[in-house]
Amino acid sequence: MSTSTDKTTSEEEKRAFVDAEAASLLVKELRGTFASGKTRGYQWRVSQLKALAKLIVEREQEIVDALRNDIAKPPLETVAYEIAMLKNSCKVALKELKHWMTPEKVKTSITTFPSSAEIVPEPLGVVLIISAWNYPFLLSLDPVIGAIAAGNTVVLKPSEIAPATSSLMVKLLGDYMDNSCIRVVEGAVDETSALLQQKWDKIFYTGNGRVARIVMAAAAKHLTPVVLELGGKSPVVVDSNINLKVATRRIIAGKWGCNNGQACISPDYIITTKDYAPKLVDALKAELETFYGKNPLESKDLSRIVNSNHFARLTKLLDDDKVSGKIVYGGKKDESKLKISPTVLLDVPRDSLIMTEEIFGPLLPILTVDKLEESFDVINSGPKPLAAYIFTTNKKLKEQFVGTISAGGLVVNDTTLHLAVHTLPFGGVGESGVGSYHGKFSFDAFSHKKAVLYRSFIGDAPIRYPPYTNTKMRLLKALIGGGILGIIRALFGWS
Ligand code: NAD
Repeated sequence: MSTSTDKTTSEEEKRAFVDAEAASLLVKELRGTFASGKTRGYQWRVSQLKALAKLIVEREQEIVDALRNDIAKPPLETVAYEIAMLKNSCKVALKELKHWMTPEKVKTSITTFPSSAEIVPEPLGVVLIISAWNYPFLLSLDPVIGAIAAGNTVVLKPSEIAPATSSLMVKLLGDYMDNSCIRVVEGAVDETSALLQQKWDKIFYTGNGRVARIVMAAAAKHLTPVVLELGGKSPVVVDSNINLKVATRRIIAGKWGCNNGQACISPDYIITTKDYAPKLVDALKAELETFYGKNPLESKDLSRIVNSNHFARLTKLLDDDKVSGKIVYGGKKDESKLKISPTVLLDVPRDSLIMTEEIFGPLLPILTVDKLEESFDVINSGPKPLAAYIFTTNKKLKEQFVGTISAGGLVVNDTTLHLAVHTLPFGGVGESGVGSYHGKFSFDAFSHKKAVLYRSFIGDAPIRYPPYTNTKMRLLKALIGGGILGIIRALFGWS
């Protein structure tokens, strides 16, 4: 289990270790609560969503402090990307819940005439949410909102890499939420493995693709469905016919302004033309200096690298012989403070380490091409990213981008903002994930869409029943062929 301070170590020592037996008892208890029907009703769901909203408002300062502790996250980023996003998710769920829970009437076909049908959303049961360290509040509680809205009992396993936030979550959810239905289990690999041995009705995992494979294999044993929210190398294509200042600021906001690049949808690399690259580099340098000053390692507006393992990983990317001469801005490090300054690299080879794995940090390589259209082949030759961005005013290029690039989400002329639009599904495709959430998509992720067909006792068609005569065969063919008269005769038994 990872530790960052002495205080955390003693807290961890006090924490009960969850082994497979304890995990099994926990699931059994929550399954019992679910079976009692407590979580199914509208009132319980609303009460828990309101409690969560209250927690976020009343304990904002503690949340800000925990994130400062875990990753030196600037308070403004915590308020914007964790607090405000969660408040909005609660607000949307509370406003829309009745509507989401209402069965959807659907058309029936002539073959079932007379009948009516509806799709009834029902909770899945007991769900497990395993979250990551980089937006530890948002990535833990946003799926919890979906799970509660859909009427499930929940076990949340926050990331041990953000220990202050993880233990704060135990405290806050313990204080504010209905603990007979919603529980937090802290821990690292051993505890998560114990949880994964159990039979869940859904596992919602946020993190890297390696662990996602472990999660999916464990889920397969019980045929448990999964949502996997993963990452990837999210590219930014930059055209030359743009407002360069605005584009540059938006790239910086999505990269260094999101946890110093430690965000799943942060720009991972840029592709632009050889001719335009020098202008873009100059603009990045100028804006970065405006935002973070001449010595960004001292800036309070940049998160630190989360721990020494990630610091070493990022250092290795920079020390690769293939890229060490390619730094055009930044490249400064302070290991004692786990700080790395915003770093731009130009013309890195595509087979360098920095271009073959997700960067997840403050390094931004720029690839150059002769013609911008070539960038689409570069992107499509790799695994499908979680996000892809383009800055252009060229209508045809925009259309080509949307038509040919497969990624979890796309943004034209900005970065990362699609995350904040609750009417858009948020999730990956291929290597960047399975399933999606946010807004109604969160409710759907934790619901089963139950098909219900209503019939009465009239219109009992003999065609369904033996003996299977030639007349019945003729009528069946009329039915399949859509001959209205023949169908009606068959349905009413006028054969
Ligand atoms: P992490 O180290 O916090 O791990 C995520 C979770 O997996 C933790 O709860 C951890 O306890 C658990 N875990 C780790 N090893 C395990 C094992 N062997 N067995 C079972 N569980 C285990 O986070 P991370 O993976 O470093 O997060 C970074 C990655 O997550 C990046 O790839 C990033 O792009 C991706 N990410 C995706 C999203 C998204 O919404 N799509 C959001 C944030 C991060």
